[in-house]
Amino acid sequence: MSDCIFCKIINDELPSTKVYEDENILAFHDISPQTPVHIIIIPKVHISAASELNEQNSEIVAKIFAVIPKIAKDLGLEHYRIVNNCGPEAGQTVFHLHFHLLGGRVLNGKMA
Ligand code: 5GP
Ligand code: ZN
Repeated sequence: MSDCIFCKIINDELPSTKVYEDENILAFHDISPQTPVHIIIIPKVHISAASELNEQNSEIVAKIFAVIPKIAKDLGLEHYRIVNNCGPEAGQTVFHLHFHLLGGRVLNGKMA
C-alpha cells in the first residue's frame, strides 16, 4: 500500500533497524521504544489490522508467532509481552497489522 509507513519500510523506502526478515515477515526496532527492547513484527503483505484477519489470510499470524521465540532469544529476552492494538480507540496508530514485542525490564501491569 503506497501510503503505508510499514509497507515503505518493507520496500526499503524508509529506513529501519531490522532484527529478523524472511520471505513473509519483517521485524525491526520501534522508533519510539516503550521498553529497553521494543520490536515491531509485521507481515510483508498489507493487512490493515487484526480485525481484517480471516480464514484466507490468517496463516501469517501463525508464522509470526512461530518466529517470535527466535527473535526473543536472539535479543536475550526470556520474559516478554506481545501486544496488538486493533483500531484507533485501542491505540492503533499505524494501520498495517503488527505485533509489539516488549521486554528488557520487568513490565508494569498486565493489560489496560
Ligand atoms: P501502534 O500504535 O499502531 O500499535 O504501533 C505503531 C508503532 O509503530 C508505534 O510504537 C510507533 O512508535 C512505531 N512507529 C511509527 N512509525 C515508525 C517508523 O517510521 N519506524 C519505526 N521503526 N517505528 C515506527
Ligand atoms: Zn502496509
